[in-house]
Amino acid sequence: MLFGRDKKNPIKIVDKKAAKWTYATCGYCSVGCSIEVATNIEGKVVGSRGVGGADVNRGKLCVKGIFEHELFDSAGRGDKPLIRAAINEGFRETTWDQAASHMATKINDIQQRYGRDAFAVVSTGQLLTEEFYTLGKLTRGLIGTNNYDGNTTLCMASAVSGYKRSFGSDGPPGCYEDFEHTGCLIAWGSNLPEQHPIIYWRLQEAREKRDFPLIVVDPRVTMLAQKADIHLAITPGTDLVLLNALAHVIINEGLHDKAYIDANTVGIEALTSEVQHYDPTTAAKLCGIDEDTIRNVARIYAKAPTAMSIWTMGINQSTHGSDGVVAINNLNLITANIGKPGGTSLSITGQCNAMGTREWSSCSGLPGYRQLENPEDREEIGHYWKVDPEFFPKKRGLAQTDIFPAIESGEIKGLWLVATNPMTSMPNTERMRKTLAKLDFLVVQDSYADVETNQYAHLYLPAATWAEKEGVFTNTERRVNIVRKVTDAPGESKADFEIFNLLAKQFEGSKAMSFPEQPQAAFEEMKTLSKGRLADISGMSHDLIEKQRGIQWPYTDEQASRGELPPAGGKRLYTTPASFRFADGKAKLIALPFINNNEVPDEQFPFWLNTGRLVEHFHTRTKTGKLGNTNKYSPIPFMEINPDAAQDLGIEQGEYVRCISRRGDAVVMAMLTQRVPRNMVFIPFHYFDCVNRLTLGLLDPHSRQPAYKQAAITIEILEDQQAAAQLSMEMRRF
Ligand code: SF4
Repeated sequence: MLFGRDKKNPIKIVDKKAAKWTYATCGYCSVGCSIEVATNIEGKVVGSRGVGGADVNRGKLCVKGIFEHELFDSAGRGDKPLIRAAINEGFRETTWDQAASHMATKINDIQQRYGRDAFAVVSTGQLLTEEFYTLGKLTRGLIGTNNYDGNTTLCMASAVSGYKRSFGSDGPPGCYEDFEHTGCLIAWGSNLPEQHPIIYWRLQEAREKRDFPLIVVDPRVTMLAQKADIHLAITPGTDLVLLNALAHVIINEGLHDKAYIDANTVGIEALTSEVQHYDPTTAAKLCGIDEDTIRNVARIYAKAPTAMSIWTMGINQSTHGSDGVVAINNLNLITANIGKPGGTSLSITGQCNAMGTREWSSCSGLPGYRQLENPEDREEIGHYWKVDPEFFPKKRGLAQTDIFPAIESGEIKGLWLVATNPMTSMPNTERMRKTLAKLDFLVVQDSYADVETNQYAHLYLPAATWAEKEGVFTNTERRVNIVRKVTDAPGESKADFEIFNLLAKQFEGSKAMSFPEQPQAAFEEMKTLSKGRLADISGMSHDLIEKQRGIQWPYTDEQASRGELPPAGGKRLYTTPASFRFADGKAKLIALPFINNNEVPDEQFPFWLNTGRLVEHFHTRTKTGKLGNTNKYSPIPFMEINPDAAQDLGIEQGEYVRCISRRGDAVVMAMLTQRVPRNMVFIPFHYFDCVNRLTLGLLDPHSRQPAYKQAAITIEILEDQQAAAQLSMEMRRF
């Protein structure tokens, strides 16, 4: 006999007849969860599960990871190279050999007519690290353009820039285990439950075992803010003011660690002098946090036995993004919270392999955090790759966000986009449309032929995705983890690694160079080049990485040969005195004046526009927009609006409205919620022809990252709701 719930609706678990589980690392976000993918006896992919023995996720996956295996059968995949002479013509199929030869001919032609830098390359944070390394070798060593960057400029460039300015090198110094040791955590513009759910679970688990103050700085009452002990609903774009004010209180009340500062830093005098302008009374008027709260938070942070800061796009995507990161580093340096358990500055990165591209793609430099500006680095890589070091540029070229304006001005004539979708991801969609249409030659290399940017391509190269190929990713805490091949890519699609190798053969210079045929061999080259450097991976191998469920760098061959198992020293950076990456070993404390240079609401455009992510979608929905189980949660573009503001405007829950900025307009459904204040709306950034029609995207002067989170809009009621619904539905990809 059945009782209660059992009687009503017994849960049935379908036996999917899994015959084999293959190890991989999740290909969405930078948390880096270990995942196993099931195939049945016919080799068909039937499921995914978290890996219990993996330190990162300990058996758990978020909603994206659980359904990640559905990707392999998703709609819109490309399966043949496609070519056309002009974007108003239809594509026709071509062979790989013809595609590679045509592409090399066009690159040579553009470079001969307009100069080497007239052909640009923009990649991604989605490839495997061996692929990034190979693309870097091809771009720096053979194509020779200096206008080469990744779409990580849209998400992580400010963190990279801030780490370099403070510590002398990129590389997040902390790890997730720091949650288990910290005495206080401030989350700056970081909504972990929705953006990095498994890190959030690690944080919550640590707080359940040992309660410590959680302070959340965010203009919205995000899910993380709802869990906070103190929520600081800051005025958008003013984090730097608050950070300077915290430093003011800490220094003026003598709460800073003078011994640590003397031994490990330079610049305390200039910082002390600058923060005098940010007394809590003055700062409160700018950043919207009352002066007592500023003092209280400063004292809690400085007096905690250890304290850590994490941040995401709320800091990075600002005209003060890089300064915000440096100011967080300042805060941690003056309180001696770097390089010790629970004391750190940890940027939570974005894409699954944003770190891999930073370390190995040569986008802004040369592999292994080497710099184009350093003659020894150019010499070393030139020698190893068998490229004349004089062929390398002597300083980095344009960032992604400067490459597009250079297309507008006619400086750049050809572009190769690898697994990135600027039609949806870049600010000011209308401007991007005109920019891409201006190109003489655009190559789109992507797993999906229906990616929006392909509308403007002359050549489309179908690429394998995620576990259709093999190689490694690096996650937020510097953990290198492996993706094993689970299944074949559709049709004639090739792994990006193979595509780069195929193209390299088209260039005369490749005869002198070596382009390994297998990812493992490329990994061996990376190991050699990493020896003795900050990101030393020389002790790792693909097999050891899988066995350990990921290994944090540095892990050296000496450690491996002594039989020291990971994490042998790889948990944290800067653990010993004066071990920062400047010549004197000392970190820099930098004075940071605040200049408010962004768009702010006014009478004509009275609402702040805030943008961000949803848990069920990833970036431009190229993948998650296709998967029923993720897409069904939020298939329609919407905006969060405060109920009081909605009442003022006469907007009902579920009604369609038009949002208008100085750049354009977008139709969205209104969702009434107290998560946003009365003068702000929030729109997720995932949808095509939606929020980026409105965004301004002024650039950070150091990182060139766009300020997606600060723009001003107005809202218009739409009389014809049926037509609006239709328009909104058209914004759905499928
Ligand atoms: Fe994948 Fe990130 Fe979700 Fe983990 S938290 S399963 S890495 S999307």
